[in-house]
Amino acid sequence: MKPIHIDECRCKRGQPLKYYCAQDNCQIHKDDIFSCELCIEDLMKRKEPHINFFVSHLMDEVKGRWNTLNEKRSNCTGKLLLSTLLKKL
Ligand SMILES: [Zn+2]
Ligand SMILES: [Zn+2]
Repeated sequence: MKPIHIDECRCKRGQPLKYYCAQDNCQIHKDDIFSCELCIEDLMKRKEPHINFFVSHLMDEVKGRWNTLNEKRSNCTGKLLLSTLLKKL
C-alpha cells in the first residue's frame, strides 16, 4: 500500500498543503478538505466566505491516526480514509 500523499496540493501546482477547510457542509471541499496557498487565494477571489485553518498542527494527529488505522485496514484509498478521519476530528 502506498503512503498517503498529504504533501502536495491536488491542484498540481507544486504547492505544499497549508490549509484545510473548516467549513461545515462545504461543497467545494467535501471530497478533499486540504488546500495550498494558491487555492485559498483563488477562493478569496470568489468572495465567498470560507473558514480555513492552518494544516500543520492537524497533521501530526492525522498521521498518528492514519498509522493506527493502517494497521487495521488495507483496502481503503488514502483519500477516502483521510476524509473520514477528518470528519471525526
Ligand atoms: Zn471548503
Ligand atoms: Zn492547490
